[in-house]
Formats: sequence, C-alpha cells, structure tokens
Amino acid sequence: MSEELGIRRGFDTVIADATIVTMNPARDVVSGWVGISDGLIAAVDSGPVPDGVHAEQWVSAGGGIVHPGYVSVHQHTADTLARGEAGEAREFFDWLFGVYYESVLGLSNDDVRTAATLAAGDLQRAGITTVLDCWGVGDAGSPRSRAALETTIAVAEASGLRWIVAPMVSDSMPSAWGPVLDSAAASSRVGFAAERLYGATADVLEFAEWASSLSTSRVPVWTSVELPEMASDELLRGLAAVATDAGQGFTTHLCASVPGAAGIDGERAVARLERLAVYEGRMVGAHLTFTDSAERDALAAGGVGAAHCAASTMFGGGSHSALGELRASGVTVGLGLDNASLNTTTDMVGEMRHVLAFDRSAGSGPSRLTAADALALATIDGARVLGLEDSIGSIEVGKDADLVLVDTSGPWWRPDVDAATGIVLRSRADDIRMVFARGAVVHSRG
Ligand SMILES: [Zn+2]
Repeated sequence: MSEELGIRRGFDTVIADATIVTMNPARDVVSGWVGISDGLIAAVDSGPVPDGVHAEQWVSAGGGIVHPGYVSVHQHTADTLARGEAGEAREFFDWLFGVYYESVLGLSNDDVRTAATLAAGDLQRAGITTVLDCWGVGDAGSPRSRAALETTIAVAEASGLRWIVAPMVSDSMPSAWGPVLDSAAASSRVGFAAERLYGATADVLEFAEWASSLSTSRVPVWTSVELPEMASDELLRGLAAVATDAGQGFTTHLCASVPGAAGIDGERAVARLERLAVYEGRMVGAHLTFTDSAERDALAAGGVGAAHCAASTMFGGGSHSALGELRASGVTVGLGLDNASLNTTTDMVGEMRHVLAFDRSAGSGPSRLTAADALALATIDGARVLGLEDSIGSIEVGKDADLVLVDTSGPWWRPDVDAATGIVLRSRADDIRMVFARGAVVHSRG
C-alpha cells in the first residue's frame, strides 16, 4: 500500500504488529505497520516491518488496533467545572441558566485555565485529536472574556491537539426568554444578568475579529453565535464574513428545539441563514433535531455539516434522534460530545454506543445505523463536517498522524469480531493505550 516504501527506510516512529482500521474509502483493515515522519503518516503496509527500516521510536501494537483519532465536531470545554451537575434531571432552562450559565459566568481566569486543562487531558485520554469547541464565558468582548480566551488558546496550543475554538457571541435575546431571564437573575449566585450574554453588534463583531486574529494552525478560531435567534441579521452576516475572510468556519446551535427551528418573526431558522448566505462558507450546525425535509435538502445542498450529540440530547430529555433523516437527506454528520455538564465522561466510545442505541430506540429515516457507521461518524465523517477530510479522519499516507492505539488483550474482546464492531461495542475507555496527535504522543497509558 505504501508507495514510498521503496525509497523510504527511516521514520520518526513505527507502529508495528497492528490491526490498522484505516477508514479509507475502501474501509481497508490491514494487519501490518504504520510509519510516521514529520507528523504525517508516511507508510501504511501489511505484514511485518521489512528489514532495513529504522525509526527513532518503535511501538509494538501487540496485535492491537490502530485507528484514526476521533473528531468531536461540537463540544463546550468551558463548562468542564460543572460536570458534577448532571446527577438529576432538569428542565432545559433550569439546566441552561441554573447550571451552564451559572458555571461559565462565574469563572475566573484561573478557573478557565483549570477547565481547559482538565478538558485537554480528557480529550487526550479519549483519543479525540480534533475538537470544535463552542466556547464562551459570557461578557463577550470584555477584558475578562479576552483574557479567558487567550488562556484557553494557550492551553489548547500546548495540548498538541487540533482544537478549533469558536467563541460564541450574541447581540440580542429571544423575547420569549424575558420571564426566564428575570428568574435566573433572582436566583443567581454569580451575578447573572441578561446583559452578560449579549453586547452591541459592533462590539461583539470587533471581539470576533480580534479572536479570529489569534488563530494558529493547531488552534484555528472560528466564529459562532449560541443560537441564530440570539443574533441580528447584521451580526450573522458579519460573523460569516469574518470567518470566510480568515479561511475559517462558522458554527451555531441550530434547530435544537421546535421554537428554535421556527425562528423569529415568522421566518424559519434555516431559511433565515440561507437568505443571509451564512452557509456559503464552511458552516456546522449543532443538533438539527427539528428540521423538515425541504430544510434538510437545503442544508445538504449548502454543504452544511451537522453535529449529532446523542448523549447530551438524551441527558437533556430529548426523544428524537435526527441522525437517520439527516443522513438520508445527504447531510454530512459527525458526532459531538457537547456539554461536559450534561455528558460528563468525554468518551467517544461511549458516545458511539449512545448514538447506536438512540438511533435504534428513537431513530428517524429509512435505515438504522451499524457499528461501522458509528465509527465512520466519529472519524472520517467528522473530518468532512469540519472540511478537514484531506488532512485527518483516516489512516492514509500524507495525512496527519492522528492515531489511537487500542489494547485488545482484555477478555471482553473475545470472541473475535470485526475490528470496527469491536471498537464500538467491546472496547473500554482504559483500552486506549497510546494517542498520537500529528505524530506526537499526547497520551500513553504506560
Ligand atoms: Zn452545544
């Protein structure tokens, strides 16, 4: 398989004796070895490593699995310190204001550093080498939020992961939220005020432009609004332009609820974003739970990627899995772990199982998901959602060496089953033995 094998004998790292689940277009599973050089996959070949090949670092997979790093296309790392709050069922607004905003609005800069550092360790251990982080601590544009964003980006950069940060901004509140906001302010411990969630259009746009200027190759900065109904037309147009000018993307929660899908002033949310040409650039919509078939066709035609967040949806009380109907309409779907305050374990294997179970119990569309489909959602499909399919998502020569080495020696792996089914339905979190992000070891179980 390796075109380079004839000329290349030296690698930075060789992983030998591996069952390589490539997730390439043919979905090849290869018993062999992987060579890594300069952060990229330089060789993938079957059989033992040939004589004469040398490497700085040798890793024996011991017959275990090597698969592509996972891609989480919708997550919020800032609420990591609220992950103890999922023990009881809450109504949506009780969670949004009583848990989520109550946590992030109270974060000091040291708290932000702790939250990001915990999130980084969780992502590394979970084999999630790429994440789209819808980030926010409130007060967008304030000195507090700017310092917190810089702190998060520094932690993200040091993590070695590809960590896309998308600061969420807003310039208005849904009018239906009025009474809820008043009661949230009355019961807040951290000084909640609705004004901490939105700012003047020009101010939050300037913040988004400043944030975009902080982009690096490993930590790109996208633009984001929390919900389209929390943004004016001017803000949505402006954020899409900032993202496109910077070669980055735009993301928002979209159609996560029936009122959210219905939009504002009689214009449905998807139609509004289409009118504003927001998704002519790269766009990812989180959830897309409540769309009609014409909307799904428009999203597919517009190349909008979808983030399916099964565990957080279920923990939040949701009872409709939109995955099947989105896929049937041709929308590219990836998986997102969403809020740490709802989905506390940062575990993509657990998420794939949740996706399968949710699809079978509450699924839509004409067909049900397989375990192999779930693995694709968590790897190559997630890469497509982010527009990164040429760099990540599969084990192919020339792509980033984002790799997860899985120990399959535990008795729960018996009897033998195909590798994709084993990863999704057999593996346990501790089976992840090593994780490479662009060729560097970011986790080693020891
Ligand atoms: Zn979310």
